Amino acid sequence: MSLIYDLHTHSTASDGTLNPSALVDSAWRAGVRVLALTDHDTTEGIEEARQSAPEGMRIVAGVEISVSWNGHTVHVLGLDVDERAEALQQGLAKLREFRDWRAEEMGRRLHKHQIEGAFEGAKALSNGRLVSRTHFARFLVKQGYVKDVRSVFTKYLTEGKPGYVAGQWAELADVVSWILDAGGMPVLAHPGRYRMTGTKLRSLISQFKQAGGLGLEVISGSHNQDDVRHMADLARQFELLASAGSDFHDPDTPFIELGRLPDLPTDLRPVWTSWQDRQADAAGT
Ligand code: AMP
Ligand code: MN
Ligand code: MN
Ligand code: MN
Repeated sequence: MSLIYDLHTHSTASDGTLNPSALVDSAWRAGVRVLALTDHDTTEGIEEARQSAPEGMRIVAGVEISVSWNGHTVHVLGLDVDERAEALQQGLAKLREFRDWRAEEMGRRLHKHQIEGAFEGAKALSNGRLVSRTHFARFLVKQGYVKDVRSVFTKYLTEGKPGYVAGQWAELADVVSWILDAGGMPVLAHPGRYRMTGTKLRSLISQFKQAGGLGLEVISGSHNQDDVRHMADLARQFELLASAGSDFHDPDTPFIELGRLPDLPTDLRPVWTSWQDRQADAAGT
C-alpha cells in the first residue's frame, strides 16, 4: 500500500488550534505517514513536530508564505526546506512584522465599527505567536458578535469589509528564491481558491514557474472536484509537480479529515518523488 501523505497543515505556531505534537498525533492516528507542517510565515513549530513524530512517520519541514501578486494575496508553500536558511528566515521575519502592524490596524478599524478589544483579544488567542485573521475571527465569535468564523470573514475581514487591511506581503519571485535557497520546493498553494479569471491564474502560474516554482497543489482540502480537474490540467500544461494537502487547521471545522485526501491523478508526478530522488542522490545510490 502506498504511504498516506499530507503536505499542508497548520498548528498553533500560526492559526491552527492543535499544537505541533497534538497535530502529529492526530495525523498519525489518521494514518498519515508523511506530514508537512506548513504554518503561515513561520517555521517555529517544526522542531516540536519532529521531536514528537513516532518512528515510521516522516515530518517534512514546510512553511506557507504570504505573497502579494497583482493586487491578490496568494500562498506559496515551501516544502522540505532547511529552516535554518538565512534568507528564508529574514523574509519570514519581515512578513511577521507586517502582521504585527496589520493586527493593530485591524483592531483600530474594528473599533470604529463598535467592536471593542479585537486586537487584544486576537493577540491573546494567538498565545504570543503570530496573529492571523483567523484569531480575529475566533475572538469575534467568542464575544458573540458573529455566529461562526466563516461569517466573520464575510462580514468583517475580506476586501471591502470594515476590518480588512490590504496585504503588503512578499514578492512572488523573492519567495520562490528564499525557498529554493533553503533547499526546498516551491509549490503554489490551493490555486482553486483564488478569485481570478482563468487568464490571470495562468499568468500567475507562468510567472511562478519562470521564477523557479516547481509544484502546484492539485489536491487540497479546499478544492472541489472541478478544481482538482482544472488544477491537474494546469499542472500538466505547465509541467509542474503535483502536491496534496488538507490545509488542516482545526479538528472541529476541517475542510477534510486528516488522512482522507483523494489520490492524485496517476499521470501526474507527485512532488515527493522529487525529494526521494534527491535523498537517493545524496546517499549515492
Ligand atoms: P491571514 O494570513 O492572517 O490573512 O489569514 C488567512 C487565513 O484565514 C487563511 O489561512 C485561512 O485559515 C483563514 N481564512 C481565509 N478566508 C477564510 C474564510 N472565508 N473562512 C474561514 N477562514 C478563512
Ligand atoms: Mn490559515
Ligand atoms: Mn492558504
Ligand atoms: Mn494553509
